[in-house]
Amino acid sequence: MKIIFLNNSYNNSFVIWKNNLQPINNLEYNTKCFDIPNDTVSFRQSSQIPLKAIESLKQQKSFLKSDYANLSRYNLKELDGLQKGIKVFEGLSFPQLAYLIDNFYNLVAYRGCNNKCIHCYADAQTPFHMKANNYINKIDFEDYQNILNGFEELNKRLGFNAFANSKQDTYALFHDADCSMIYLRDKNGKIYDYADLAKMLHDVTGKTIIFDTAGWNLTDKTTQKRMEDLVQKVSNDKKYNFLIFLVSMNPFHAIYNKSVELAVQGDIEKSKKFRDIYTDRMANVIFTLSPLIKEKNYINNMNMLNFLPRALKSETEANGYREIDLAYLMDEILVKLKKMYSDDLMSGSNKVIDYKEQIKDYLDFVNLWLGYGWGSISITNKTLADKLSGIQTTEHINTQEGSYNSALKGKLFEHGTVDVNGKFYMTNFVETYPTDIVLNYKNKGKATAPIKPNLRDEIITKEMI
Ligand code: SF4
Repeated sequence: MKIIFLNNSYNNSFVIWKNNLQPINNLEYNTKCFDIPNDTVSFRQSSQIPLKAIESLKQQKSFLKSDYANLSRYNLKELDGLQKGIKVFEGLSFPQLAYLIDNFYNLVAYRGCNNKCIHCYADAQTPFHMKANNYINKIDFEDYQNILNGFEELNKRLGFNAFANSKQDTYALFHDADCSMIYLRDKNGKIYDYADLAKMLHDVTGKTIIFDTAGWNLTDKTTQKRMEDLVQKVSNDKKYNFLIFLVSMNPFHAIYNKSVELAVQGDIEKSKKFRDIYTDRMANVIFTLSPLIKEKNYINNMNMLNFLPRALKSETEANGYREIDLAYLMDEILVKLKKMYSDDLMSGSNKVIDYKEQIKDYLDFVNLWLGYGWGSISITNKTLADKLSGIQTTEHINTQEGSYNSALKGKLFEHGTVDVNGKFYMTNFVETYPTDIVLNYKNKGKATAPIKPNLRDEIITKEMI
């Protein structure tokens, strides 16, 4: 049988004609005519999947040849039905699923954060606040398994990894949470830490997974232990070489913010106390994550351990929150880190440091990489300016044009977030739109805190995608 594929040059969608039909207007299409090989698709056929979708997949794969593993190249409407029988996708069309996959970014496992950073674009609420409002703030482990099993089954039916050519190179399990808080329990009480959960997502999608932390309370022994165990596990096993750890370093953390406020009020002694709490905390984060350096792990040319320094530009008048202030903070943190390394070696506990030269190696590493990735805060300036109480803010606070501002101008919504109740949102980190895509989670329909920033009322519907 011969099939003619017509590539619509206006919207790059494909129209398929069998050889007994003729295109209406040849001028609009680049036509290609070819023979269909019999063995172009391996397929675990289910009686629920419409034959039309199976046939179309075969034909389109054959046409796309080496480009077949790129979902965005397909005529998606023709593939509708391939998702049939996968419970977690019940009620969704194939084009809706493809939209979710193409824009996939966050598979949210946990909502809420205790850090209360004043620049938080997601305006994270505390887990306490979530509870008080009867919001659910954790994905059910069964839902987590079901969505990943659903994706896996879809990949099998397609015969390729649907995520391979999706827009984002990295995925995350959080939207408004600190990753040190994230773990799940299955119904038998078995605990899955961030690495376990990330591995499950990586195995299905093949993507690099991000872990980001602004630290945890030093008195929180449970989180400290969870983090030590996690770091031990991933730094000693190459199978976790898809995980990138980020340490957020900035002057916007609630504890440091308190220190600045106290300084403005003239309470220098108390201000210093809060500053110390913050620098102790950050030295401890880097100390705890330091075994990730030891392995000299590189993932896609990135270190396994990285830093995200963020501050306002030094020319601003927001004393305490500028790049220069962060540089001083980092100096203090490095001094404390050096002491922690030395104490670890001298005490013989060797949690992190095994020999003297390692101290210099680690400090050099941290020093070097702290200097990279500086970014000024631009997206949340208005909110930030409102929150910098006691600080004289001026127009200067409107810092450099960043990619986020460009994203707003271009309205580039390329980051999709699946909330813990299965609802799917699109954001450009400046504004957020809900979609009519809702996964068939056990917790479907349950209330969650609004996904921010700037959650709009308008909904991205299936007719729009
Ligand atoms: S740690 Fe992240 S999620 Fe938590 S408040 Fe700070 S910026 Fe928001």
